[in-house]
Amino acid sequence: MKQTVSHPVVIGGGPVGLVLALSLQQAGVPVTVLEAQQPGAMYGDGRALALSYGTRQVLEQLGVWSVVSSKVTAIETIHVSQQKGFGRALLKASEHQLPALGYVVSYGALMQALDARMAETGAGIEVRYEVPVKQLHVDTSAAEVTYESAAASNPDVLVTPLAIIADGGRSLEAIPGLVRETKHYGHDALVGLVQTELPHRNIAYERFTPFGPMALLPNGDQFSLVWTGEQAYIDQIAALDDADFLQALHQAFGDRVGKFLQIGKRGRFPLKLSKLEQTFPAHCVVIGNAAQTMHPVAGQGFNVGIRDAMALAKNIAASSAAEWGAAHRLTEYHQSRARDTGRGLIFTDFLVNVFSNDLIGVGLLRGAGLGALSLLPAARRFLVSKMSYGS
Ligand SMILES: Cc1cc2nc3c(=O)[nH]c(=O)nc-3n(C[C@H](O)[C@H](O)[C@H](O)COP(=O)(O)OP(=O)(O)OC[C@H]3O[C@@H](n4cnc5c(N)ncnc54)[C@H](O)[C@@H]3O)c2cc1C
Repeated sequence: MKQTVSHPVVIGGGPVGLVLALSLQQAGVPVTVLEAQQPGAMYGDGRALALSYGTRQVLEQLGVWSVVSSKVTAIETIHVSQQKGFGRALLKASEHQLPALGYVVSYGALMQALDARMAETGAGIEVRYEVPVKQLHVDTSAAEVTYESAAASNPDVLVTPLAIIADGGRSLEAIPGLVRETKHYGHDALVGLVQTELPHRNIAYERFTPFGPMALLPNGDQFSLVWTGEQAYIDQIAALDDADFLQALHQAFGDRVGKFLQIGKRGRFPLKLSKLEQTFPAHCVVIGNAAQTMHPVAGQGFNVGIRDAMALAKNIAASSAAEWGAAHRLTEYHQSRARDTGRGLIFTDFLVNVFSNDLIGVGLLRGAGLGALSLLPAARRFLVSKMSYGS
């Protein structure tokens, strides 16, 4: 069946797609979301998302924060250090007149809160579940979105003035006019919940090791571990039994949180830097992880995606319905996002390259950098502002 709608269609009902849908709804713009999975499929996903203070403000504005806040852990201090080297830096929320430098929440809890808020707010958002989009065709007048559903033996087609790809970058790779540039780090992230001897006291630890950065983020009464390194190195630590794994973790991390007592289910994902080149067709726009994927070293990726969603909602709300999907409007959107996205990508790539190798002299440089950060309030202010609100 072919159906024509006069409003935007979002492909992918992940957190970025749903934040966009809620903000369009708030602006009085109707929206249809096409999601491949069934309702609630991600509620059990424990991956820890690091939310910036700016993302908290967005969730407050959308009425989502009050729903999810009981499941969120505040980061009040960030402790940055390097293995086998001097220098460390402390960033404190109190120094910057912020209630927190960021927050940790599980992907599943955030999805549940977004769904609950959508159920509360009612009209304006239509979510179709279990409808994987298979194809997107864009011409000069509209976008045609082809998707499968259990209800129909043939694929359905939705024609819209604006198709917004928010699929996390995992399915719609080959769309004419969209060219992706990808750099594979050859590194993986190993993630899991760890129980430590000492309480976290709302401190997030970022530690640079010669193998790659690692982070411990306070999450409930435990820490979420993000341990990155070359794939062969992660293969080795992933193969360890729990006792040896905890010992290796202690060795890499040091004594700051006492002994590592327990590790939950370990997950793993490959790390890459991916971005779209500046060629965009009309009637189609890409946001969130689908538009840019970053190394998780500074917890930026998800927050950049949320800022995409907010900027696009603002752009659509400020346009007349006849302009939705118009090339000049999408160009304005891309221009408004270029600086923030570009800086996020450069910053995380820089951290990975400079902070994760053992070249002679680089360790000293890192130490000097951390020392400077520790000594210079202006440098800390700059960093905290960028982490909270982007560029
Ligand atoms: C395996 C993995 C683990 C990660 N772990 C961490 C972590 O520990 N910490 C962290 O900060 N970040 C992590 N990230 C990154 C983080 O998940 C992303 O920054 C965030 O999820 C981006 O949100 P999004 O809405 O853009 O995309 P996603 O969360 O990927 O959401 C995309 C949505 O689109 C749907 N979809 C996909 N294809 C289609 C299609 N063809 N048709 C319809 N719907 C479709 C999906 O079902 C999904 O609901 C991880 C990423 C991956 C892939």
